[in-house]
This record gives sequence, structure tokens and C-alpha cells, in this order.
Amino acid sequence: MNDNRKLIEELAGKIKSGEVQPWKAETVLLEEYGVSAPDHFQIAALSRRECIEELTGYTFNYLEMPEKPYLLQWRCPKDNSIWQMEAMDADTACTQCGTALEPYGTDEDRYRPLVNNYVGGKEEYYSSAGQIKVYGDVDKTFTNLLAYGPGFGSIGISVGCFRINKLGGAEVKVGRWAGAARNLGYVFESEEEREKAVVTAKEILPSLRKEMEDKYLAEFSGEIYEVEFVRRQHHGQFFTYICFYTRFEHARGHGVTSAAVGFARGRLDAEFNAKGVTFIQSLIAMGFDGDLKPSPRNRRGRYVSAQVKVPIPAYEKMSKTGIDKLMSYMEIDRQGVMQEQGGFAYSGMGGEIIPALYRGTKVNPRPYNVSCTENVYVEIRGEEVIFGVELPNLEVGAASNREGPICPTAREVLKFMGIGTSSEFAAAAAAITLAGEFNFTLLHLRGEMYASK
Ligand SMILES: [Zn+2]
Repeated sequence: MNDNRKLIEELAGKIKSGEVQPWKAETVLLEEYGVSAPDHFQIAALSRRECIEELTGYTFNYLEMPEKPYLLQWRCPKDNSIWQMEAMDADTACTQCGTALEPYGTDEDRYRPLVNNYVGGKEEYYSSAGQIKVYGDVDKTFTNLLAYGPGFGSIGISVGCFRINKLGGAEVKVGRWAGAARNLGYVFESEEEREKAVVTAKEILPSLRKEMEDKYLAEFSGEIYEVEFVRRQHHGQFFTYICFYTRFEHARGHGVTSAAVGFARGRLDAEFNAKGVTFIQSLIAMGFDGDLKPSPRNRRGRYVSAQVKVPIPAYEKMSKTGIDKLMSYMEIDRQGVMQEQGGFAYSGMGGEIIPALYRGTKVNPRPYNVSCTENVYVEIRGEEVIFGVELPNLEVGAASNREGPICPTAREVLKFMGIGTSSEFAAAAAAITLAGEFNFTLLHLRGEMYASK
């Protein structure tokens, strides 16, 4: 590797100055520096890393750089299936039929990158996706390291970031609190019995809330800000939902909220029994609290939005078309989602972009589908077009405390990215999503998306 030291430094310098686009590093090494495949993969990745280290002032200690950071192509002689496998994978039998695979393609063609803009990571492959400047509720520049996976998404985000930075950055608004909710359900035989229960529950509620906060939420500086009673029924059974809403400035709070509400259920059951209130069933009734149900009005998570303002003529130049085409692009998508899919909002590509941040940083929650709910919006204000995204219920725990374990690589990635708090995570998520959407929309308007020849 020492022989390549000078080469890496030179290429890193060219990437930093903009002379070489980071995703072209592999090609430049092959075509201009005469490096032979597959050596160019590691040199390109190390050059991008060096550039990121210089930009951030940090050094990579945990994000691994394998000896062979590339794929090899194989072919099964029996069923003709073609496989792309990591070069270190010594199990070269066909997954489908067990036959020994044979090398596929010419020597140069056999080698493929693990992911575009690869910068490290074993099994979870990290891509560099540029830097994005945000201002507003959070003021900083994030250095994007995403576990995006195969495809050109990470490059698309880099390009979007570049454009947004040139326009002055993304303005972000981050909700002050992350919300969490857990709901209790009670089933009664009569409406009279249910009313007795509601009165009894409301009587002990002030002391119960305090006990829940002291015992469970205090560690995360959380509080209960609302308790909602809702009456429903089904064929002679009478339900009461008692939903506890909590909020946290620096934590996700989902786990402690559940624990606190489980405790409340025991207290309420005992109180009903003591007061002679008869119920058929008491339970944690998920569904009302929206647990893992994607919805723009989920009862959990933190609101965050990011937008960029562009003079209309500048946008028309970028999109190579009139501003009306942007409006009809938005409308055809909105109708597609709302009327054809029966969805609640235009969800953009958040489902693809946002997981790349969660996979890379590994912060809680592991199932992040609620957080991927997204709304893309476009507004015309005077001479400007506003292009924005909002994530109505982004969930994120603070890194590396009792909210969930986090591995050293993920902590390192968070540090490099510039994310220390959950509101910074939210701002980064919205800004990266905005960058992706902004670029994808331009590509669609210019007819350059999936333009197969
Ligand atoms: Zn096979």
C-alpha cells in the first residue's frame, strides 16, 4: 500500500479540488494513471477516504477497508445464472444448484465495484455522497456516508447536494420534540361500565402521570404531554382507548414509553378492581398508537422539513423545460399515489434514500418504515420556486446510550457525518432526501431518468 501513498494523495487532492469527480476515480486510475484492475478499486476508495478525512479533520479507525474491495463475476455452467460476489467470498458454489461456479467475463470485465463511490465497510458497503450545507434550525455541513447499496443513488445524492449547496444550502426546520405514544385498550360489556371506568381513570391520572414520568421517562428527560380517551364499539362490546403521548428533546423514547404505559395498565386494572368497575379485557392496544404503521399523522417521531429556493428562470435552465412541467410532474405523481395507489401522500423516493442513512449509522429504530413517510412539495412564491421535502414522523434515538446499542463503525460514521444529536440526524435525513429528490426530479423533467438506449 505504501507504493500507492503518493498516488492516493495526488488523487485525493484532485477530488478535493473538483478536478476529478469522486465517482470517476476508478476510471481515471485505469485510463490516466495506468493502474491495472483490480488494484484500482482500493486506490480509488482510499483516495476518497483521504479526501473525506481532510475535509472533516477525523481519521477512519473502524470503517474497514478490505484487501479486495470489489466484486467478482461468476457463472453457473449448469443453469447459466450469473453471480456477482465479493472477492473475499470463497464459497463459489451456485446458490441455486450447488454446481461449482466458473469465472465469467474477461479479466478486466470480471471485476466490479462493490457500490458506487465506495469508501469502506465489509458486508455493509458505504458510499460517499458528497456534503450538504443546511441552515435554519440546524446550521452545519454534513458529510454524507451512506450505506446505499448498488445503483447510482449515492451519485444522484452527491449531484443533488452539489446543486443545493450552489443555491445556498437547504433550509431545515426540525421539530423540537420527538413524540412517542403507547395506547391502552379496555373492553366493557356496557356503556355505563365504560363511563365509570373513564371517570375512575381520570381521577387517578394526575398522580399516575407523575409516577410514570418519575419512574420511566425521567432518565431520558421525557414527559407525558397528553392523554387521550376515545370511545369505540363493536357489536355490543364497548372499547376505550387510553393513549399516552410522550415527548423527548434528545431521545426517541419509544421503549420507555411502552414500559411506562405497561406500568399504567397494572395501576388502572388494580384501581378498576378496587372501585368495582368491571372490564372484560385490558391490553396494550397497538394500532391506535400507530406502531410501525406508516402514516403522515403517526403519533410518533419528529417532524423535519428541508427546502431550497430557486429563481424560476434558474430552475427552468436546470430542468431544460418550463416551470409548468414541474407542476404537472408533481400533479401526475400526486394523482398516481393518491388516486391510483390509495396512498395518503406523494412519498417520493424517501423509502430508498432514508434507509441508506439508517443502515449506515445504525441508530435506533431498526425498522425505519415509519420514518420513510415523506411528502415532496413545490410552491411558487413570486419569482421563486420552492422545492421541499417533509418527513412528518422521523424516528431517531440518540446515538450510543441506553436507547439501543450502536457499533463503533456506526459511531465513527456519525462523527464523520457531523451528527451528534437526534435533531442533527433529522436535519441530515431531510437534507439528503431533498438532495436526492431535487436531482431525481430534474432527471425526470429532462427525460434522463432510466433513459435506456
Ligand atoms: Zn446453478
